[in-house]
Amino acid sequence: SVRELELWSAAANQLAVAVENARLLREAKAALQVREDFMSIASHELKTPLTPLKLGLYTMERRISANQPVELATVLKSKRQVDRLVGLVDDLLDASRLDSGKLELKLAPLEVGQLVAEVVDHFRAAFERPFTVEVPRDRVWVHGDRDRLEQVLVNLLENAHKYSPAGEPITVRVEKLEGEARIHVQDHGIGIPGADQSQVFQRFYRARNVSHRNFGGLGLGLFISSSIAKLHRGSLTLASSEGHGSTFTMTLPRMASHEVKRLPRRVLL
Ligand code: ADP
Repeated sequence: SVRELELWSAAANQLAVAVENARLLREAKAALQVREDFMSIASHELKTPLTPLKLGLYTMERRISANQPVELATVLKSKRQVDRLVGLVDDLLDASRLDSGKLELKLAPLEVGQLVAEVVDHFRAAFERPFTVEVPRDRVWVHGDRDRLEQVLVNLLENAHKYSPAGEPITVRVEKLEGEARIHVQDHGIGIPGADQSQVFQRFYRARNVSHRNFGGLGLGLFISSSIAKLHRGSLTLASSEGHGSTFTMTLPRMASHEVKRLPRRVLL
């Protein structure tokens, strides 16, 4: 009957659409795999020559005598550039590890206040700018990967520094809440336009108020940082107003107090 024919043709159409969707999905997956492979191979290949290059520069620095100031300045400048390159390539490597699910945390009890104080001390020594730290009296323990959480803090502080005019203070505040710890990094810099705020955590995304000419960067730092927070079962969020400043907040699950009590004394000291 006509009715049956219509039903058959509708079913055939649906089947054709399903087959086409499956093909598109296969192609998209293959394209993603190509990107993943490219990122992985490129970042490893870029990284390999950097280690000997860096060692070579260290050796040269040691051998240059005090009466060769021009040579020394050149070597020091090259060292800074190689360090920058290492930083960029490390970000590419991390992004590629995250893509393939190969970034694994080494968790151990960690006191957040101490970590924050140490990281900020480094920034104070490196940059002429007021850095303020506010930590609670109580200790704030989390199960964390020290190196990775330090990486997040460094990234947030570098951004705060990069996207703020000279002299503007940067504040890092640790908060101990019910079941969670929060670390806020606040600046009074260029801020992030509202329309870009939800996207800056995506890889390679940069807000429209930054240009490569004014601010270098790959746009990977926040993607890596929020992924690290998520791997800790936490989050990285943002409050910002364009032209006024930004506050990034990392939230982490806090260790329960009975777990903290069971920590060995040498860890607690
Ligand atoms: P990058 O700094 O290399 O571009 P990120 O992933 O760290 O990469 O940051 C992504 C984007 O988010 C930046 O390009 C910038 O537009 C914006 N952003 C990040 N931190 C800040 C900040 N503290 N102030 C203003 N904009 C920021």
